[in-house]
Amino acid sequence: MNVASRPNDIQAVIEADRAHVWHHLSQHKQYESVDPKIYVEGKGTRVWDATGKEYLDAVAGAVWTVNVGYGRTTIADAVRDQLVKLNYFAGAAGNVPAALFAEKLIEKMPGMTRVYYSNSGSEANEKVFKMVRQIAHRKHNGGKYKILYRDRDYHGTTLGTLAAAGQKERREQYGPMPEGFVEVPHCLEYRSQWGDVDDYGIRAANAIEEVILREGPETVGLLCLEPVTAGGGVITPPKGYWERVQEICRKYDVLLHIDEVVCGMGRTGKWFGYQHYGIEPDFVTMAKGVASGYAAISCTVTTEKVFELFKDDPTDPMSYFRDISTFGGCTSGPAAALENMRIIEDEGLLENTLKMGERLMNNLRELQSRHQVIGDVRGLGLFCGAELVMDRATKEPAPEKMVQAVTADCLAQGVIIGATNRSVPGLNNTLCMSPPLIINASEIDQITGAIDKALTKVFG
Ligand code: PMP
Repeated sequence: MNVASRPNDIQAVIEADRAHVWHHLSQHKQYESVDPKIYVEGKGTRVWDATGKEYLDAVAGAVWTVNVGYGRTTIADAVRDQLVKLNYFAGAAGNVPAALFAEKLIEKMPGMTRVYYSNSGSEANEKVFKMVRQIAHRKHNGGKYKILYRDRDYHGTTLGTLAAAGQKERREQYGPMPEGFVEVPHCLEYRSQWGDVDDYGIRAANAIEEVILREGPETVGLLCLEPVTAGGGVITPPKGYWERVQEICRKYDVLLHIDEVVCGMGRTGKWFGYQHYGIEPDFVTMAKGVASGYAAISCTVTTEKVFELFKDDPTDPMSYFRDISTFGGCTSGPAAALENMRIIEDEGLLENTLKMGERLMNNLRELQSRHQVIGDVRGLGLFCGAELVMDRATKEPAPEKMVQAVTADCLAQGVIIGATNRSVPGLNNTLCMSPPLIINASEIDQITGAIDKALTKVFG
């Protein structure tokens, strides 16, 4: 069946999909009895599926990506103009939008100077791991090669980044994993490891120091953390945490890598999540919101100090970063990213994110006052989560099936919300919201209105 010749025949599309597409994150047996979901159009905060049903998208394209919303013709124009001029050239060569976007990005990241391009969040993180390993070989005689990651954090789907996954279910059945990755404890105050204490943030950071001391500081090269843990449960950092984390990294000469793949480009109401805490990382990686899904692009950003380590001995043929990303040479990525950033600036989307994020948090707290099942509400900017529990005293997590029933009911009401999914064993119980940054007050109320109804239906 030639789908291309019958683009309006949606049944043909569905049949082609069912016959040949292997969907992400899917157990395909289900598609023997239900049609795979296919979205066909988007505008602003809304998308339409193949049946014509309209949805308010409160997760920006399933995984926190479409920051500036759907249907942006100026991004499409910028990409088109660039593609007809020069679509691609890779290897050691540069290109015009790559240079211009790097300059604009660095303006927003004081202390950082260098941008390395690739095309997914996993890849951007993997570049950091490779840089750290190369620094270990060249500067530390093979020491300082260990990469610390945090329980419940996620950094990607490749074997290297999976080895750094604090979400055990994602790793299961894909081993053996690469070596030299070590876990540090999570920082979710609601599930404090020390009970109810005033200095939770400091304790959670000090727990990282304990791991560094246990492993031997001379073996530890990198600490990789999400500013707000995304898929692991929308975990916002406790008070004092980041400042102490930075102190510890400096004390033991451990490079600090902030994975801004989700939080970057305005999601939290600042350009980058780490900028809420006044810290100065050595590496920042970003992907999803960089071009809002209009093109595939990711960036590994670092300081001149790190960069210098790769050019200090030009007589050594192994001294430079011997890495390439084929599609890091696509010009569509930085062309889309430049226009994406212009939109965020010109439309005041950081301000809107802070304002609408506050409304979303207030609405969620109001729901919490009426629904016993909401144990905790967490958020930063337009990145919010509500953790569902069967009993507020014991904090027994709501079963994944019931959490999924809530998201399914919201979907039926025309609102797409997310939930933590197959990440932390027994703790896939957090509803997730990350709408496009252009969302308005009545749409925020529509999201929480749908959750209100769904919670009543599922939990009574
Ligand atoms: N880091 C974080 C924090 C993520 O949430 C993700 C993806 N959800 C990644 C990295 C990996 O990005 P990608 O899927 O583009 O490889």
